[in-house]
Amino acid sequence: MSKLLVNRRIAAAASQGFLCIYCRLPMCEGDPDGFARRYGLSLRQALLLRCTAEHLRARMDGGGDGKANVAAACAHCNMLRHRARDPLSPLAFAAHVQHRLKRGAWLPAGMLGKLGGRGGPGGVVRRS
Ligand SMILES: [Zn+2]
Repeated sequence: MSKLLVNRRIAAAASQGFLCIYCRLPMCEGDPDGFARRYGLSLRQALLLRCTAEHLRARMDGGGDGKANVAAACAHCNMLRHRARDPLSPLAFAAHVQHRLKRGAWLPAGMLGKLGGRGGPGGVVRRS
């Protein structure tokens, strides 16, 4: 990955408060062991939340490394979005992820609770 793209990713992550643009969960930037310890995750789980550069318009569709096209997404969301044969738009994918999160059907079982039950506006776990 180019240095420019690394810088773009880190800048995007910082502007997003180090939350994934899709699932809004904390992302792991730089220290997977520390991240795993902090949230009580396995290393494998921490790596799912590794901070990656997300091309809002995929490179294969002509999207570049410009600031406006690069956001920060966790590895899990990034991989699943681009694995689809016909990837959803960023907005539609974010809605899809939030819907799945609310049903507990996005991350491996037990992970969300360890992350504080966050995930989108209002959070997944509503407290009255
Ligand atoms: Zn995510």
